[in-house]
Parts: sequence; C-alpha cells; structure tokens
Amino acid sequence: MRSYRWTGWPRLISAGRVAPRPLAYCPITLAILLTLMLSLLPGTVLAQAIQLHVDLTDAPRNIYHAHLRIPVKPGATTLVFPKWIPGNHRPSGPIGALTGIKMQALGQRGMGQRGTGQPLAWERDPLDMYAFHVTVPPGADELQVSLDAITTKDSAGSGGPAASSNLLDLNWNAVVLYPQGANSDAVEFAPSVTLPANWKFGTALPVARTDANQVEFAPTSLTTLIDSPLIAGLFYRRIELTKPGETPVHVMDLVADSEAELAMKPEDLAAYRKLVAETGALFGARHYRQYHFLYTLSDVVGGHGLEHHESNDSAAAGRTLLDDDLHLVYADLIPHEFAHSWNGKYRRPAGLATPNYQEPMVGDLLWVYEGLTQYLGTVLAARSGLWTPAQYREALARTAAELDHRTGRNWRPLEDTARSVQILRMMGPQWQSWRRGLDYYPEGELIWLEVDATIRQQTHGQRSLNDFCRSFHGGESGPPKVVPYTFDDVVHALNEVAPYDWATLLRERVAATSTRAPLGGIERGGWKLVYNDHANALTQADEKLGKSSDFSYSLGFNAGENGEFHDVIVGSPAYAAGLGPGMKLIAVNGRKYSPPVLHAALKAAQSSADPIELLVENAQYIKTYSVSYHDGNRNPHLERVSDQPDLLSDILKPLTK
Ligand SMILES: [Zn+2]
Repeated sequence: MRSYRWTGWPRLISAGRVAPRPLAYCPITLAILLTLMLSLLPGTVLAQAIQLHVDLTDAPRNIYHAHLRIPVKPGATTLVFPKWIPGNHRPSGPIGALTGIKMQALGQRGMGQRGTGQPLAWERDPLDMYAFHVTVPPGADELQVSLDAITTKDSAGSGGPAASSNLLDLNWNAVVLYPQGANSDAVEFAPSVTLPANWKFGTALPVARTDANQVEFAPTSLTTLIDSPLIAGLFYRRIELTKPGETPVHVMDLVADSEAELAMKPEDLAAYRKLVAETGALFGARHYRQYHFLYTLSDVVGGHGLEHHESNDSAAAGRTLLDDDLHLVYADLIPHEFAHSWNGKYRRPAGLATPNYQEPMVGDLLWVYEGLTQYLGTVLAARSGLWTPAQYREALARTAAELDHRTGRNWRPLEDTARSVQILRMMGPQWQSWRRGLDYYPEGELIWLEVDATIRQQTHGQRSLNDFCRSFHGGESGPPKVVPYTFDDVVHALNEVAPYDWATLLRERVAATSTRAPLGGIERGGWKLVYNDHANALTQADEKLGKSSDFSYSLGFNAGENGEFHDVIVGSPAYAAGLGPGMKLIAVNGRKYSPPVLHAALKAAQSSADPIELLVENAQYIKTYSVSYHDGNRNPHLERVSDQPDLLSDILKPLTK
C-alpha cells in the first residue's frame, strides 16, 4: 500500500480452485473448526457459487449497483460485509458507503413460482456494523440481495473517489456480502459486470466470456475475487511487458482521463520491462500465473497503490508519464507494489494472514511487510532505470533527514507505529514529527538498507540482501499462495545468509526508542547525510506539485500554499519561538510571505544577529513571533565518504544485463 504525501500519503485466477491460503494460527485446527462451523450455519449452503453481478454503468456518478444470488437453507443466517481489507491493514471496508440493501427469498415450495421472490426484512447487528441478520423462510433455497456502493471516497483504500467521467476502479470488497464465519478460500463466487458503453477493462481475473459491455468471469474464491480488482475506462491501453511466448505473462493495463495521458515514452517502456526482469533475477521465482499492472492516470482518481498477488492497483496523477516532476515523485510506486507480490502477499506476517475479512489483523511486523518493500521498491526503481542513482540518493537523503528529525522517536518505538496502523493511517500532518506517522515505511527502508550493507560487509561482498530475498521470497514458482512468517523466521533466514546477531540488531531498531534515525546503512554504504543550501531534487518536485514549502531542517516547519503550517517540529527554532501547526504565516520581516521572501530572509539572517520576525495568524488573532536562527537554508543530500567502499552504488547495480 502506498499513498502520497502531497495529495494525501500509502491478487489469481482460478477457473477451478485457488491455492488455499494458510491460516494464521494452528492451520489444521482452525480449518476443521471453520468447516464444522460452515456445515452448521443454518441459513447458508456453500456447495454452489454465489452469483455476483455488478452494474458499473453509473460509475461516472460514483455509484455501483450489485446483485447477489446466494444459495441458502431455511433458518436464521448472518451475512457480513468485508471489514479488514488486505493491504490497508485496518478495518477500512467502506461500510458507510453501502446503501440500497434489499433482500428477497426464492425457492420451489411455499412461495409460488420461482422468480417471484418474497421480500425479507433484514437487521443490522447492533454491535457489529458489518453484519446483517436475516431469517430465510421455509422452502427457500436462494437469497437475492441488491446493494449499491457509493464510491465518492475511500473506496480504493485512499481518500479519493473510485471513478470519474471516463474511468473506474472496482474493488470487489465494496460490493459483496458473504456468510459470517466462512473462510474466504472456501466461498466461491461467479462474478460478472456490465461496463459503461465502449469502456475497456483490465484485471487479473480470468474472463469466461464477453459480449459487448457484458463481461463474465470464471468462478473463483472470495479470496481471489477481493485480490483481483478491475479497472476500466474509455481511454485504455494494454502494453505487453513480456516477450511473445514467455511465461508468466506480464501486462500493463492503463486507463486515463484522456487519450493523451496514455502516451508512454520508449525509455519508460524499457524500464518497466527491465523491472520485470530484475524481479526475476532478485527473487528467482514468481508466485502468480500472470501479472497485471493496473495503472490509473488521473487527477481525480489518484494517489494510491494497492498490492495484490497477481496485480497491483496503482493510481498516479494524470500527466505522470509526461511530466518530469511527476515522473520523479511516482517512480517507485509501481516497483513498490510489484515487490509486494513476493513480500506481503506470498510471504506475509502471521498476524496479517487472516482466514477472512472480519478477523482483526496484527500489524507488528509491518516494518518487514512495508519497510522491506519500501527498500526493494526504491532499489528496483534505480536498478530498472526509473530513477538514476543520483535521484535514488536524493530520495534516500530526504527519507533519512525526515526520520532523523522525528522527535516522536523519543517516546514511540517504531514497532508501535506498525501496531497502530489502524489509528495512524488517516491522521493529518499536524504534530506528525512528535506523534510519528506510518514510520515503519521509511524507517523500515533505512533498517533494511543497514541489513543489506551489513551482510555485504560481513561476507566481504560475497553475499547480500539479494540472497535473503531469493531464499525467503523465492522457492517454487506457481499460482498464488500465502506462507506466513514470524520475527524468528526472518532472523533465521538472515542467519542462513550471513551469521550475525540479527535478533538483537532488529529488536533494538524496532522496539527501542532512540533520538537518532538508523543511518548505519548509509554510513556502511560509504556515504553520509549532509545539509546545504542546494535544493533536494525530490523535495523540490514535491514542493512544486503540492504548492508547499519545506523549511523542516532550518526553521523547523513546512507550510502550504497559503502559508499555513502543516507541521512544526518539536525542539526546532520555530517551535522554540511558540509556533504550531495550523497557524498561518502572513509576513516575514514586515514583507508579505512567499517562499522566496522567506528563503531570502534565511540568507540575510546568516550575517545578522537579529531574529527573523514572522507575522502569524492563529485562530483570528495576529501576532509577531521572533525566531532566533542564523544557519541559512538546510536541505538534505548524501555525500560520498571517499575512504570507504561504495556499497550503496553496488546495491543499485542491475542484476540483469
Ligand atoms: Zn506497500
């Protein structure tokens, strides 16, 4: 999962059966228990597939209409709406957007002819908002459910709408109900959709047949259905990323709000093909039958990436393929989501490998799930050519500086940011440095860089994290499956690559508080974090796109277009002067605020003993704050330490020719 800071911040096929997903704890007992529970559920029969049809013709006004036909037995039954969404790692199922729910029973006996259904009253559970109780009358063998999903926000795990005038993103979890207590591997769906006229689509779901705008998919498990989103649009392009005859097939399905935005430069096409080759060389096996890069380019539907076994659902700004700044900022989005197919989907922390979507998830190991993916995503962006090594280093410097100025690391260990994902993800930027955010992403990246550099040093360059990826994420190629892991499994696999006290190192990094960020990987890699008055390339692009200004490492704040402070770093000169997030900068030394005016004031203060005077509005009151600061502009970069081997550059070298 990824989302972006300046807009907001971040599955398989089976014509027959899907590879069973191992259960989180004691698989055999749980499986027996679930089978037993299912056979005892009075209202449901699961031998037949649930028919699901989704009418997407109203997508441009952001409402999807779904119709389900669920095989049932008479008696009390409970249907549930998916609550804990994989990749979101939190109870983000859009239950508030579920609307228009109507149920009716059909059967042979006691209710007239088949087809004349009997309306049924349903009741939401008073404690669990995601559960619906209904009593199936005698003689009924089918429950028909109509429901609508409002997709104006949060429907794809991000803040924005799922559809626009010209394109849509369908996450099946928003349009299904399934029997309470069922294992999602054991519930079969026969899905179909009606698309708006002339729209084309992409998905990893295998298609059974198409007829104009009607598409029928092969029956599949609920697990695979929810793991296989569909994108569609009036402007669509399919790009083959594997050579003819090569398997498994890799396809990029692009949808955009205009034809012009689908234009991909030859160097990007080459980079995405190289990305596919690099993952093959890195992991040594693939855990999918075919892979779809579902890529939405839109200024309306955008800013997220969601990983699946056999696809990724990524959405970037409309002109990402055309604009250099957007290209720079989004370069690691697709490598990140693609790497999740191995790290996150195939290998998954035991606490996140739940048997269905109602079981709570435990996020403690997200510094592996997301942190290692963040590391691999950025490294793969450089190895495939989506970033130059210099651009990679600018991105790494920015990450390192941000974490090194997180004053919240004094009280909150990294592991707690992972465990708290369900309360942290939707928090705004205010007091972020003190509260900490989803730091298991960027700090996880720094930790895995440290692990990689340490393996290389310990083995005198003979081994690296590439070897860990091959043994931990590789194995045998084949259809999707989940192999859960624990902290001890990670430590064991690292020791197989290079003996070291990994348990102590990792526990210290994730469970202890520390005033400084883990910069050991940069230092062991032959580089150091420095600050100077040259702009950081990534920050500069972000500032331009987000119309914001970053003074984090000088005065200690970043501000929006209108001068509003997004965050003020605790302990910084701005904080010492009394400033806080939400206040608005009006003038600098008597002159109306603009970023160039403040940059000039920082420069002038270097040769002056006078404080910088900031006129600030706070909840309708205006006041001048004096900030005593004389060190000028400070932007993060990496600088080479010449007497040490350049391991970082070695890490960025492609594994393929
Ligand atoms: Zn992710």
